[in-house]
Amino acid sequence: MRRGFLLSTPREPRKTVLLADPPPPPNESSEKASSTEVIPLPARYTPRYTPPDYPPDLLERTCHTVQVPTSGGPPEHLTVFIHYNGVLEALEAEYPGWPLPFSTPSPPVYKIVPIEGAGLGMVATVDIAAGAVIVRERPLLLAPRAFSAPKGREHATNIIVNAAQSLHPENKRLLYALKNVKGNTVPSAEEGLVNTNAFGCGPFPAYHGRYGGVARDASRANHSCSPNAAQSFDAVTLTQSLRAYRAIRAGEEITVAYVGMSMPAAARQEELLRRYFFTCACKSCRLTGNARDKSDSFRAFVQANSGADMIAEFDATFETWLAAGAHLSPPVVPPGCTIVNPQTITLTLWTIMVEEGCYDPALWEPVLRRLVKYYSVFKDEARVRHYATKAAGLRMVHADSDDDGGWRAVAENPRMTEWWGKR
Ligand SMILES: [Zn+2]
Repeated sequence: MRRGFLLSTPREPRKTVLLADPPPPPNESSEKASSTEVIPLPARYTPRYTPPDYPPDLLERTCHTVQVPTSGGPPEHLTVFIHYNGVLEALEAEYPGWPLPFSTPSPPVYKIVPIEGAGLGMVATVDIAAGAVIVRERPLLLAPRAFSAPKGREHATNIIVNAAQSLHPENKRLLYALKNVKGNTVPSAEEGLVNTNAFGCGPFPAYHGRYGGVARDASRANHSCSPNAAQSFDAVTLTQSLRAYRAIRAGEEITVAYVGMSMPAAARQEELLRRYFFTCACKSCRLTGNARDKSDSFRAFVQANSGADMIAEFDATFETWLAAGAHLSPPVVPPGCTIVNPQTITLTLWTIMVEEGCYDPALWEPVLRRLVKYYSVFKDEARVRHYATKAAGLRMVHADSDDDGGWRAVAENPRMTEWWGKR
């Protein structure tokens, strides 16, 4: 029995023993296809490499501060960039004319307004489609997450303070108007502003450490443990952006996750309090008693299934099982264990991600791919469309690209996919 099938933990959300009954035979009268070209399922999406805070050669590096583009421009295109030696040269060599031009939705699809109990925040002014860009902008200030230790803490403070002072006057006004929750826990107001508002940027060529970028508007997005938007960064255009995880309605607050979403509520609260000095009051954190235990166990279940080895093993098992007709032999069930079939586990994982609003970056794609394959094999056109459309939106968010990876083509013509009716 493979690991993915056997769940002995009491935190597993479903308790019943479920064996696969293949779906009813497809409606043979609806067999005709609208095209003759077979559509392959999109190539596997590889999550972006997340660089470490402390790369091995950090101690040999020297910081430089420069305003980019070095040719100048309007304030909204200017970034003060604190970088390690070699990075600027590598960027300019790799992308002639760096940073390349960018665009953002115009007019804006959000406004920045007071949010009860949470200072200022972003609210959608129009309906925003899943996967769509909410805002794309150059950082005000972009700095490595770690500075060369041998030169001392004071040295790092001076670099940040001087960089903030060198901002274009309009950008300096925007930086100092942001919230600083760090108080006297850091040596300077500027470090407080950066540590409160920066989100992860990188990697860059010639330096494999992480940077933090303070965004003009995107840094105003408040936290939720079930966020409707995700942050990302593009080194080529030197832009930070927010994209919608799901459809966002006009009037809805736009939120992102400041901490890991797989942790239980108490651990999320502890980390938010330690790093950002607030108590989260999102829908998941307001749960109590059994409802909170259920939410915690759901998130733990997603995390337990999100390791690369587990995903690869489960994918292989799923395909073998599907190719064999999606039957399970009567299992031998050890005491205290629950047996479920791969489709049930996959559907459970997806249902949890939707219900909890936490789309694990490693897991959403394998889960949706399995669902699309399963329902293609059993010729359930509506469900193939549904899950392929979800995959298109999430692909655009996680890749920060308008390229949906080919999922929309699957959603538009499920009958022409390579797995349609393949048993
Ligand atoms: Zn919360």
